[in-house]
Amino acid sequence: MIDIKHYGYIETEAPPDELLPGRVIEHQRTQYTVITERGEVTAVLKGTFLHDAALRSDLPCVGDFVLLQFNDSGNSRITSLLPRHSVFSRLDVFGHGLAHIKANREQIVAANFDYVFIMSSLNQDFNTNRIVRYLTQAWQSGGQPVVILTKADLTPDFISKIADVQAVAPDVPVHAVSAHTGFGLDELSVYLQPRKTVVFLGMSGVGKSSLLNALMNQDVMTVKEIREDDSRGRHTTTHRQLFMLPPLTGKTVGAMVIDTPGMRELGLLGADEGISTNFSDVEKLMGRCRFSDCQHKTEPDCAILEAIRSGDLPAERWEQYLKQKRENKLVQDKSGFLRDKHARNKDIAKWSRQEKKRGRL
Ligand code: GDP
Ligand code: ZN
Repeated sequence: MIDIKHYGYIETEAPPDELLPGRVIEHQRTQYTVITERGEVTAVLKGTFLHDAALRSDLPCVGDFVLLQFNDSGNSRITSLLPRHSVFSRLDVFGHGLAHIKANREQIVAANFDYVFIMSSLNQDFNTNRIVRYLTQAWQSGGQPVVILTKADLTPDFISKIADVQAVAPDVPVHAVSAHTGFGLDELSVYLQPRKTVVFLGMSGVGKSSLLNALMNQDVMTVKEIREDDSRGRHTTTHRQLFMLPPLTGKTVGAMVIDTPGMRELGLLGADEGISTNFSDVEKLMGRCRFSDCQHKTEPDCAILEAIRSGDLPAERWEQYLKQKRENKLVQDKSGFLRDKHARNKDIAKWSRQEKKRGRL
């Protein structure tokens, strides 16, 4: 029998006798693979589950804890989703999926992780602005961010790059590693503890698959070789998955890594809170402007302008803040647009039903 507590399951109340708790380790369209005390089982959503799901985000994804009706001779049925403590979501702009819950296109791509490894390559692609952007998303997710600078073997001068990251993210741990040489990997054992789950966030080509393979001590992901000179790589992950790492020395259970294609396409959905955490210094300054509706452009006694002038607030940091606000608004406007459109369609449908009843249509 498998102890699914090793997969991070925490029993808050005993499930009904006929239901089995489990964790989703793979998800492809309507098909789930769930690890339970009876091993890995394939499962689909129970009809009533689908019927009751009001939002797209109510559907299970990789990392979710679920209850299921076990079936020995076919698909088991997932009957409910247990509460999540962290999520990454994205806007499903293509809207494929289930018609009746199309209105909310927030799709969860990973759930119940403890750490977010923000991965960035130390080669010429190195960009602290991007790291700050990912940090915003990580704070928003409920997971704890850790910055991982990859390909340390290519950059002898990584100490200064670590300092660059620490300057923009003072409270976040930063590590330089090399999946190729194994350099720095032992520092990650702080996070890779039993029952803990990690997700990788980072652009294609930064070395997510390579790191996972190195941590697994075997190739579970295909690494597409890239030419370092154009810093491009292609992921070859075919479906979402949760991996159990081999235990660290002296432990009996390993940590888990979630690596899904969805994680690779994240937008900045609803990142306001994360932006505030990330830029608390900026927002604190804004509170000190003389006018509460200060635009921070030409107003007298503007704390932002003063801080930029005195050098207390680097102009790039202010630009970065404005840029993230703009991007976030764009994403929100887009989801707002979809919501409005759905509401309008519903109104039209209601109106036409009423008109039909009155015999006018
Ligand atoms: P992913 O798209 O983030 O999963 O990145 P991959 O793991 O597929 O790696 C992309 C490219 O970077 C491949 O050519 C890898 O060989 C290379 N790479 C990954 N990790 C390292 C590393 O630690 N050092 C070096 N020199 N190259 C690496
Ligand atoms: Zn101001």
